[in-house]
Amino acid sequence: MSTRIYNFSPGPATLPYEVLEQVASDIVDYHGVGMGVMEMSHRSKEFMAIMAKTEELLRELMEIPDRYKVLFLQGGASSQFFMVPMNLLGPGKKATYLNTGTWAKKAIHEARFFGEVTVGFSSEEQHFKRVPDPAEYQVSPGSEYLYFVSNNTIFGTQFQSFPQTDTLLVCDMSSDILSRRFDVSSFGLIFAGAQKNLGPAGVTIVIIRDDLLDRAPQNIPTMLRYKTHADKGSMFNTPPCSAIHVTGEVLKWLKKQGGVDAIEQINREKAAALYDMIDSTDYYRGHAEKGSRSAMNIAFNLPTPELEAKFIAESAARGLSGLKGHRSVGGCRASLYNAFPAIGVAELVAFMKEFEMHNPA
Ligand SMILES: *Cc1c(COP(=O)(O)O)cnc(C)c1O
Repeated sequence: MSTRIYNFSPGPATLPYEVLEQVASDIVDYHGVGMGVMEMSHRSKEFMAIMAKTEELLRELMEIPDRYKVLFLQGGASSQFFMVPMNLLGPGKKATYLNTGTWAKKAIHEARFFGEVTVGFSSEEQHFKRVPDPAEYQVSPGSEYLYFVSNNTIFGTQFQSFPQTDTLLVCDMSSDILSRRFDVSSFGLIFAGAQKNLGPAGVTIVIIRDDLLDRAPQNIPTMLRYKTHADKGSMFNTPPCSAIHVTGEVLKWLKKQGGVDAIEQINREKAAALYDMIDSTDYYRGHAEKGSRSAMNIAFNLPTPELEAKFIAESAARGLSGLKGHRSVGGCRASLYNAFPAIGVAELVAFMKEFEMHNPA
C-alpha cells in the first residue's frame, strides 16, 4: 500500500484499495473453484451469480424501479451517443440536446445521423463554464427526448438539479453516477461508462424504462438494439465479465460506506475543501461558474501556463498524480470520484498552499 499514490485521474480512475485486493485474489481463484473470473464461462453458475448480485446492488443503491431494465453493455459511453438516437429516433423524429461540453457535443454529432436535433442550450461560447439554469433552455416541441450530460468531466460543471420537463429525459451520467441521490423514475434512459465512478473500463451501464424497448425501428442491427440485451439479461453475447465483476465489488464497497447518501456527504466535503482553497486566493482560479461547480471534477488555473507546468510536475513528484487538465481547457483538474480518499484532497490543498508561497505570481 505504501507505494500507492493519490490518483486524480479523470478516468479510468482510482478504485478502492480493498476492492483491488479482493479482485486480485478473484482473478487467480474465484471462491475456491480453482479458476479465476476471467477464465470461467459467462453461463457458469458462479458468473451468473456475480451478474445477478451486481444488478441487485445497483438496483438497491440507486433505488431503480422494477419497470426499468439494467443492461451491461460494451463499446463505452461513446457507443451510447449513437445507440440512443438509433433506438429512440428515426426519420422525421426530433430530439433536443443541451450542449454543455465535449461529451454533449459528440452526442449531438451522432444523433444527427438518426433524426433532427435541436440544441436547446449551449455554453460553448463561454468555454463551457456553466450549465443552464432551469428556465434557460428550451425543449423543441415534438421532441422524443431531452438529452443532457449530468456532469461535464472535462470542464468541471455539473447540473445541481435536473431538468423538469414532460419530455422523456435521457442522461449521460458517466462521471457522476452513484455520487449523489436522485430519482431514477424521472428519467427514460440513463447511461454511464464504468471507468469513472463504477469500476474499470469495459462495461457500460444502461438503465432504460421498459416501455422504450419497443420504440426502435425494425431496421437496426441486432447488437445495437436495447431490446436484444434486455430480453437476454445482457447475455445475448459474451458480456464484459471481468469488468462486471469488479463493478460488483465496487458496489459492495459503496454499500459498506453507507450507500449513496453517505458517499454524497463525503463527496461534498471533499469538493468543498478544494473549492475553499481556490476561493481563498486569487492565485488559483476555478474554471466553472460557482452555480455550476462539479463535485467530481474540479478544473482550475494558475497565474501562468509556466506555473501550471511546474505545479503539475512538482505535485506528481509528491505522489499527487493526474492533475493535468484536459487539453481543451488547459490548466489543472482534480477528479474526486467516490473512491478518491478525503486525505488525498487534504494533501493536495496543503501542496497548493505551499506552492503558492514558493512561487509568487
Ligand atoms: C468519459 C466520458 C465519456 C466517454 O466514455 P467512453 O467510455 O470512453 O466512451 C462520455 N461521457 C462522459 C460524461 C464522460 O465523462
